[in-house]
Amino acid sequence: MSSKKGMVIAILAAAVQHGIKTDGDYLEFNASAPNFQLTENFKLHEFLTKNKANTFTRINANIIAELQLYRTEFGSAVRISSSYRSSAYNKSVNGATSSEHQLGNALDTYPLNGNIKGWKQTVKRNKKSGGIGYYKTFVHIDTGRTRTWNGS
Ligand SMILES: [Zn+2]
Repeated sequence: MSSKKGMVIAILAAAVQHGIKTDGDYLEFNASAPNFQLTENFKLHEFLTKNKANTFTRINANIIAELQLYRTEFGSAVRISSSYRSSAYNKSVNGATSSEHQLGNALDTYPLNGNIKGWKQTVKRNKKSGGIGYYKTFVHIDTGRTRTWNGS
């Protein structure tokens, strides 16, 4: 998917331009980083870990690019309820032990307008590889092994 690749390059370039550390395709930052417009609809801080004690965040530009592409097609605001999790933080929220959130490859996402069914359909139609977890109130997306599951 060439548009995704182009977007990954643009995300990494924007990060570098704002003094954000990159490691391959990953961005590394914390709550004191500048909160700039990273993609058309998302600012950097929307991807911060929800861990208030230690805000270090490592996130894959590929999952950010995917989210933006699905958001564009969906045509309405989407929010992130979970992003990067340190292993200690993942344990504290009872995350799966092999969670892609610990690698910075996963996002839990939900539509602001409440149309979770429409958001699920948009992700399902567009996501060609990696994981999709369908939950009652959010959709988990990751760049890991290609698989889908239904959560509660
Ligand atoms: Zn998740």
